Amino acid sequence: METLMLSASDPKTAATAANLIMNGQLVAIPTETVYGLGANGLDEAAVAKIFEAKGRPQDNPLILHICGAEQIELFCHHIPQKAYDLAEKFWPGPLTMVLPARDCVPKRTTGGLATVAVRCPDNAVTREIIRLSGVPVAAPSANISGKPSTTTAEHVRHDHDGKIAAIVDGGSCRVGVESTIVDLTEERPRLLRPGGITPEQLLEVLGDLVVDKAVTAQIDKDAVVKAPGMKYRHYAPSEPVVIVSGSRETAAAYIRAHFEPGDRVLCFEEELPLYEGCNPLSYGREADVNTLSAGLFAALRELDDPAIHQVYARCPVGGGVAYAVQNRLKKAAAFHIVDAEEEV
Ligand code: AMP
Ligand code: MG
Repeated sequence: METLMLSASDPKTAATAANLIMNGQLVAIPTETVYGLGANGLDEAAVAKIFEAKGRPQDNPLILHICGAEQIELFCHHIPQKAYDLAEKFWPGPLTMVLPARDCVPKRTTGGLATVAVRCPDNAVTREIIRLSGVPVAAPSANISGKPSTTTAEHVRHDHDGKIAAIVDGGSCRVGVESTIVDLTEERPRLLRPGGITPEQLLEVLGDLVVDKAVTAQIDKDAVVKAPGMKYRHYAPSEPVVIVSGSRETAAAYIRAHFEPGDRVLCFEEELPLYEGCNPLSYGREADVNTLSAGLFAALRELDDPAIHQVYARCPVGGGVAYAVQNRLKKAAAFHIVDAEEEV
């Protein structure tokens, strides 16, 4: 099939994309986090196409994208007040909530779970597409499963050209990492995935937050976990990635001592002069963590090259949005971390 490229600034785009979704087709949609591969979330056959196009494991559930908090009750039940408090504060925005699912949500969408994830994205065209289609749009990140997420329309075209009906080009994604996911189905709210809405921001509204173990450690592929997506290999270029922690100078000394031809260094812009001759690639400025989250996946995609043997990566420290960047980079590295301070 020919994949239509639709511009977000063309006033006809929302109607064209909504029609395709109503007809059971796949449409890639821009959001503030990453590009999503969207389909009618209530149509099992349409949702099946998402899994097929991505090569996504069947038990990895999808997020339903909706127009606003008033739609939560259409797809969820037993909704606690704190869900509305979070929506009030952070929607439209990079926050997904997991709630008990109504029967109208197919098991294919929820990966067989009794719960469903909902989010209202901060992108005007995408919200208009959802509104015009009249259905919740199920959309995971538009990358091939296991690969770094798509943060430009060009990334989506690289992975899906000829396989999906259309791509809506809305430019580069502002946040650059997938949404924060919080599970509200238990007594205590649980962080399943860090993202653009930080743990600190959630705590301010919720007063309490448990961090799921899937956020901080590698999960066995056979494990039963609250965040099924988190147990799979994620965000990874084809070659091994190792994170080197420690001060700028100590890390650079370690990396330069181990660097071999064919290796690459993924670092902060401020560090580029330290890696002359080591083919460094910067993904943003350490002094502005938002540039790191926005640039991470494009950089990981650039490094997804079979000619590269090994990537040495530098990771920001601290909380806030840095916490989400650490999570994605650690997953790309399969939690392989060397502390340069202990190696010297
Ligand atoms: P993606 O945006 O491609 O990373 O995929 C959506 C993520 O949302 C998956 O990795 C799931 O782990 C998570 N998710 C979706 N629905 C649920 C749910 N009902 N319970 C827990 N996690 C969910
Ligand atoms: Mg994904």
